[in-house]
Amino acid sequence: MCAVKVLILTASFGDGHNAAARNLRNALERLAPEDGQVEVLDLLEAAYGRLNHLACAAYLGLVRHAPSLWRTVYQLVDAAPSLSAAGSWSRLRRTLEDVLAAAQPDVVVSTYPVYADVVAELYRDHAERPFQFVTIVTDSLTIHSAWYQSPSDCWCVANEATAEVLVRGGVPSDRVAVTGFPVSPTFHDEAGVEVEEPVGGAARRILYMVNTGRPKLGRTLEELLALPRVHLTVAVGRDSELRSRLHQRLDAYGDRVRLLGWTNLMPRLLLSHHLVIGKAGGASVQEAIAARCPMIVNQTIPGQEEGNARLIAEEGFGCVVDGRRETIAAVERAFSDRARVWREWRERMTQASRPDAAYRIAEMVLADGRDGVCKPLFRGWAAGAVGGPAIVSASSASRPLLCDFHTHTNYSDGKLTVSELVDFYGRHGFDCICVTDHLADPRRVIGKLSRLSGLTLSPVQVDEYFEVIAREARRAWNRYGMIVMTGIEFNKDGCRARSSAHLLGIGLNEPIPANLDLPETIARIHAQGGLAVASHPHVMKSEWGKNTLYLWENQETFAPLLDAWEIANRENIFSPVALKRLPFIANSDFHKPKHIYSWKTVLDCSKDPEAIKECVRRNERVSITLYRRDRQLRHEPLSLPLDVPEPVAPGVAVA
Ligand code: ZN
Ligand code: ZN
Repeated sequence: MCAVKVLILTASFGDGHNAAARNLRNALERLAPEDGQVEVLDLLEAAYGRLNHLACAAYLGLVRHAPSLWRTVYQLVDAAPSLSAAGSWSRLRRTLEDVLAAAQPDVVVSTYPVYADVVAELYRDHAERPFQFVTIVTDSLTIHSAWYQSPSDCWCVANEATAEVLVRGGVPSDRVAVTGFPVSPTFHDEAGVEVEEPVGGAARRILYMVNTGRPKLGRTLEELLALPRVHLTVAVGRDSELRSRLHQRLDAYGDRVRLLGWTNLMPRLLLSHHLVIGKAGGASVQEAIAARCPMIVNQTIPGQEEGNARLIAEEGFGCVVDGRRETIAAVERAFSDRARVWREWRERMTQASRPDAAYRIAEMVLADGRDGVCKPLFRGWAAGAVGGPAIVSASSASRPLLCDFHTHTNYSDGKLTVSELVDFYGRHGFDCICVTDHLADPRRVIGKLSRLSGLTLSPVQVDEYFEVIAREARRAWNRYGMIVMTGIEFNKDGCRARSSAHLLGIGLNEPIPANLDLPETIARIHAQGGLAVASHPHVMKSEWGKNTLYLWENQETFAPLLDAWEIANRENIFSPVALKRLPFIANSDFHKPKHIYSWKTVLDCSKDPEAIKECVRRNERVSITLYRRDRQLRHEPLSLPLDVPEPVAPGVAVA
């Protein structure tokens, strides 16, 4: 059987579209790891790049500061005959044309309404379209008409009520599949997690999701905690300043309060709580339903979220409240009288819950794809945001290993999630990467600043960070034959370059506190069998130009302790490291996709984490290479591309 190629188109407006796309991809990969090929593409991002960022920012700005204005915009667009009349999509059409020509998918899935319009323009004759086209409607009840103005082979919707809206809008009923919203397949995989009924002496576990705009948040939380047996988990998101304020304010409640940053473990949290209080986001509402966790909606974006809020209220999955007093009253009501109201909500959710929706849609998509004629494999990937070659087959026999030991994700200031990073490097044929998000020393002034701005791992996230990377490492190995190590970049920043140091801990098994001195940190890294590497140790001529010279200036102390020094970091190359004959590696310090085109390490050793670490330690059969677009460096890692100027340090140094 040949592979079914699935292209999933998404957009970054609101949270529902990307969530649906990501969850479907995960389900496809878990269901058919060998015989499906899946790509997720934000087509708007690919077509409009920076412009799209501005549009997303404008959208968020509108939603935050002028919800009523956003409602007007939403209605205006809704009234237009088709979205293409509301703006010019010619660039979007050209981009989609290029992507389709390169990818030749069997099935295209769209989680955003505009794309159906563009596909309809490309293939005016429905019969000529060489792929199945599936639309996943990410909203409920109040559905923008753009979702069903243009043809699809099939619409997947969250529930019966939504299906009725489509049918009333003229969609043939046999084209509408009530699959449930594709929440993360983890909701299905972990469905065994049960929470004890909140009656008698049992704790009442409430998950509080902090939204944008939160008047009197501290007071609301205190009043919730004043209710008997309430235990609160507060998900603060990226606002670490807020988190530290809440931490001080709620400290006295001890283990009745748990404060979290943003988190990847939402399924487990929802499954282990009795109530969630939060905003009526498309994904959040559907996740609550999947986890059978009744919801109190305390904020709704006018327009597209109104349907989600109505779903909660009308279906009896919880309630919609306005303000602090109503929130507290709703919680009291839910748990009073042996939690009668709560049990009613829970019962109705149990009936509606479809935690396996992503798997069901994935099965449908695979079946659709197999019905079609098999197409040749993905021919290279032309689209903007995701550059580079197509999926690469796993390891071939004993060739040198292409490695990058210094990468950042959105656990600190990187742009990609861990799983996006894994797919990105996996597709580029890498053999080993290490995820090294920033962990700032809280004792340092700069550390305090950067933690406040949310750009480094917070101590409460570190356990989750290790857990998520370990899980992704298993997937990376199964799918790409790529090793993924867990690491940390310890930021010890002073006011000046000479008092600042960044230290990479590579190949770690467990967290290391942020507030240790450098020698102690290095000792802890070594105690776990990890590598301690000086990150950008010399003067950089790069865009941000903040230098970290402490380790270099104290070489006598640190050279005996460190396993290696970065001889190159992204496009910077540090010739003094070569002149001093120090052990070396080269890394991209990856923060966003374009950073992949940078200096890398090539190791001649077997593809095994211990062998890789030992190879760096001994620093024999180590080379560096400048990774560039459109060159098959993967197969000839020891040759430099011709258009690279003579490097200052040996471009290829085999030590
Ligand atoms: Zn750094
Ligand atoms: Zn870094």
